[in-house]
Amino acid sequence: MIQLIDSGAKPDAAALLERARQAIAARELPSGISLRVWGGRGSGKICSLCGRPIGSDDVEIELDGIEREGGVRFHSKCHLLWQEACKGPDH
Ligand SMILES: [Zn+2]
Repeated sequence: MIQLIDSGAKPDAAALLERARQAIAARELPSGISLRVWGGRGSGKICSLCGRPIGSDDVEIELDGIEREGGVRFHSKCHLLWQEACKGPDH
């Protein structure tokens, strides 16, 4: 059984959304939401947005067709934030 340790304050959605926008601007993350994705149970790999492991009690969303070492994957909620960031600041 894996017990996750809560290390205190969680990054809030607004901060992660800003981070997503900066990462897209810096081309660290793709900017297209039409990419195919895979969803599944978290495998403990690191989320490309928030940098935290995606545990088996969470949903892991992996982007397909990304030419990036290690790929790009998100927590389900980070994936939503990334999609939001892809739309740009005017929405
Ligand atoms: Zn995340």
